[in-house]
Amino acid sequence: MIKFNEPYYTGNEIVYMQDSLTRKKLCGDGFYTNKVSEFMEKTFKTKKALMTTSCSMALDMSCILAELKEGDEVILPSYTFVSTANSVVLRGAKCIFADIDKQTLVIDLDDVEKKITNKTKAIIAVHYAGVSCDMDRLMEIGKKYGVIIIEDAAQAVNAKYKGRYLGTIGDMGCYSFHETKNYVCGEGGALLINADNSKLISDAEIVREKGTNRSNFYRGQVDKYTWVKMGSSYLPSDILAAFLLAQFEKMEEINELRGAVFNRYFDRTEKLEKLGLVRRPFIPEYNDINYHMFYLITNSNEERNNLLEAFKKEQIVATFHYLPLHTAPMGLEMGYKEGDLPVTEDLSARLIRLPLYADLTEEQIDKIVKVLYDFFGVEMI
Ligand SMILES: *Cc1c(COP(=O)(O)O)cnc(C)c1O
Repeated sequence: MIKFNEPYYTGNEIVYMQDSLTRKKLCGDGFYTNKVSEFMEKTFKTKKALMTTSCSMALDMSCILAELKEGDEVILPSYTFVSTANSVVLRGAKCIFADIDKQTLVIDLDDVEKKITNKTKAIIAVHYAGVSCDMDRLMEIGKKYGVIIIEDAAQAVNAKYKGRYLGTIGDMGCYSFHETKNYVCGEGGALLINADNSKLISDAEIVREKGTNRSNFYRGQVDKYTWVKMGSSYLPSDILAAFLLAQFEKMEEINELRGAVFNRYFDRTEKLEKLGLVRRPFIPEYNDINYHMFYLITNSNEERNNLLEAFKKEQIVATFHYLPLHTAPMGLEMGYKEGDLPVTEDLSARLIRLPLYADLTEEQIDKIVKVLYDFFGVEMI
């Protein structure tokens, strides 16, 4: 049996977690939370990195901070994880789903521009598989129309656009450290504040601390703390931050291991692509990816589904990805229907994801690739 995903341990997770216990401060914003925030601010170069309990919660925070309200519109891809849309819906704002680009599978900026109205308050770009849209153009669109840019960089930690880390380019960026992502702590995330806006930073601290100015109090900037804004509790326990620090310290090692898996898949499936049987991931020149996932696009939905079956028979876990949100029950309720986003619908029906994690061996990869060659009746290279 080959699993789809498996967390990688560097060995120091348990050491740091043990140490966090001896410090007798298990709640949020302790020693290790400060360490990982500092790591993110220094390494990724952002003004403020705030640990959250998940990327979903970072997205929720970003939508509170964008001051979304009923009647506001937010443009986002339909080809994404549910959390991107939930954060908008929870504020009572409207999801305006945009189509994706055929080649990159990320939000189509021509479609975005078509969908901008005077009600558009924000655009959420999702960096699928560590690939981004043209961020320069997206930021220009944001400026031109006075729209807030939020990056759902859940899958893009340590991936870059023109040398800059994804998640640090939009006004706000959201990271995930969920077990299935590249750098993990079980459940966790971060909100990055990139805009040159000190009010946004202090508001983010307040929203994250139950709507209180407790962060100012801890820094000695006020002598009491109190309820100053709408907020909730988005701080993870310091024990989880301790786990994450061990992962961050080995960020490049993990990236190399994942990269070796990705590249082996990429090389070994070249022949299939040349024969027109599958399409491999397209990586724009402006991106350095983080090897978050490896997918293939088949020529038909039927072929994709049969391929999923073929893997299942070999006890290899391969999966489809994202049932489009606009044709999900919630999307239909919003008034969307099949046919509204043709590229999204077409590609999601033909995409298959293969197992990818740091510990996947060459032997396992070759076994997976052989299933592909056998399926298509092609002799393996
Ligand atoms: C994983 C993921 C999320 C959610 O991350 P959590 O940390 O599990 O909340 C959001 N958006 C995208 C694109 C994701 O891949």
